[in-house]
Amino acid sequence: MPVVLIVEDEVDLNNLIRTQLQADGHTVYQAFDGPAALRLVAAHTPQLVILDWMLPGMDGLAVCRQIRRDHLMPILMLTARNEEIDRVLGLEVGADDYVVKPFSMRELLARVRAMLRRVALDSQGAIAATPSPAASDQDANDTVPPAPEPIIRGPLRVNLADHSVSLDGREVDLTPKEFDLLALLAGHPGRAFSREFLLERLWGYDYDGVDRTVDTHIVRLRKKLGPLGEHIVTVWGVGYRFTA
Ligand code: CA
Repeated sequence: MPVVLIVEDEVDLNNLIRTQLQADGHTVYQAFDGPAALRLVAAHTPQLVILDWMLPGMDGLAVCRQIRRDHLMPILMLTARNEEIDRVLGLEVGADDYVVKPFSMRELLARVRAMLRRVALDSQGAIAATPSPAASDQDANDTVPPAPEPIIRGPLRVNLADHSVSLDGREVDLTPKEFDLLALLAGHPGRAFSREFLLERLWGYDYDGVDRTVDTHIVRLRKKLGPLGEHIVTVWGVGYRFTA
């Protein structure tokens, strides 16, 4: 059962989201301020955190930054502010996606489902080659497939087995989305991927209109890769490609 943490100081809204997620079959924890959120994250390691930006005291950005020091679970930010700079800032401190208030519960649930589906796919990926879905845990342990080969591009090493990335042997801290993005691009050097494809493949949803999510993640990824980031090239009018 996926465990979701809701961080929102508006009690009615927090309760409303809780009710909807419980009806969707999730185990839900609620926090009404930042410090409580951090305690619950440490205690329960939820699969997803829904995090309001405007919290009294410690705001959502600070909470997000703090969670990202130790955890990689997806974070969905709620923001009442529609300015692009705010969205970009949220994504830069490690949020994976955002929903702008006021939002419909349907929209929120669709995002939550898409994000949790990605989490489930990622964990399935680790045991994808298990021969029989009916195999018991014991059998599965006996037939763990060989780890996938790492992607090596010069000083860059992308380890698909343990989701780690290193540059010249030094580990690079990436969020799950940054990792997925890098693994996909570096795994297919020379191939251009459209923003729409990347958005659907990595975030699990279609988005009509201008969406900066992919661009923002690319900016962050390039920054973390230093000089090697230049190998992620913008393909004008299309999207991105990795050059060898
Ligand atoms: Ca709030």
